[in-house]
Amino acid sequence: MSIQSKVRRVEHLFDCLDSEISKFQIKTNLHCISGCGKCCTKPDIEASPLEFFPWAFHLFLNGLAQKTLDELNNTSNSICYIYQPLSLLDSHNGSCGNYKYRGLICRLFGYAANKDKYGQLRLATCKIIKEDQSIIVKNTDEAINKGLYVPVFTDYYMKLNQIDFRLGNTILPINEALKIAIEEVLHYYSYRPFPKGFKNAS
Ligand code: SF4
Repeated sequence: MSIQSKVRRVEHLFDCLDSEISKFQIKTNLHCISGCGKCCTKPDIEASPLEFFPWAFHLFLNGLAQKTLDELNNTSNSICYIYQPLSLLDSHNGSCGNYKYRGLICRLFGYAANKDKYGQLRLATCKIIKEDQSIIVKNTDEAINKGLYVPVFTDYYMKLNQIDFRLGNTILPINEALKIAIEEVLHYYSYRPFPKGFKNAS
C-alpha cells in the first residue's frame, strides 16, 4: 500500500473517531480546560509511528520533513516535540503545535475508555478533569456502564493496526514515533517520484 493510501486511511479513522468523540462530548458535557496542555507535557507519552503518518506526510509536502527530523535527532527532551508551551516559565499552559495532525493517543485521551480488571469500561482522563469535573466524570462512568457508547482505546488501536500492523503496533516514546514516521515517509520517496505538484517536497 502506498504512503498516500496509508495516510488517507489513518485520516479516515481519525475523522470517524472525531465524530464519535463530538457526540460523546455533547452527551456527557466533558471538556478539556481551555489553555491547559498538561497532558502533552508528560514525558512518558507513547504512540505508534503510523498515527503520525498524516503529520509526517504534511511536513514532507511542505518541505519540512528533513529539517524536523534533524531537530528531533538533536533533542534529548522527552516532552512531545510538537507541543508549544505558552511560556518557558509555565510549561503546563500551552497547546498542540499541529492540532490537526495530532496522533491517535492525543485524540483518545480524555474521551475514550479502557477496560479495568473487572472488564468494566473506565474513562481514561487526567487528574485535572477528575478533580475539576468530578460529578461529570462519575456520571459519565455510570452512563458508560449502562450502555453509553464510548470509543475504546484497544478497538481504535486494532483498527490502526489493520492499516499497517508493523507501524501501528510498534509503541514507542512519542518523539521516537515522530522520528520513525518521518523516516518512513522520506525513505518511501527516496526512490519514487514525489506526489504531483510537490516537486520541492522533502
Ligand atoms: S501531538 Fe499535540 S496533542 Fe499530541 S502530545 Fe504532542 S502536543 Fe500534545
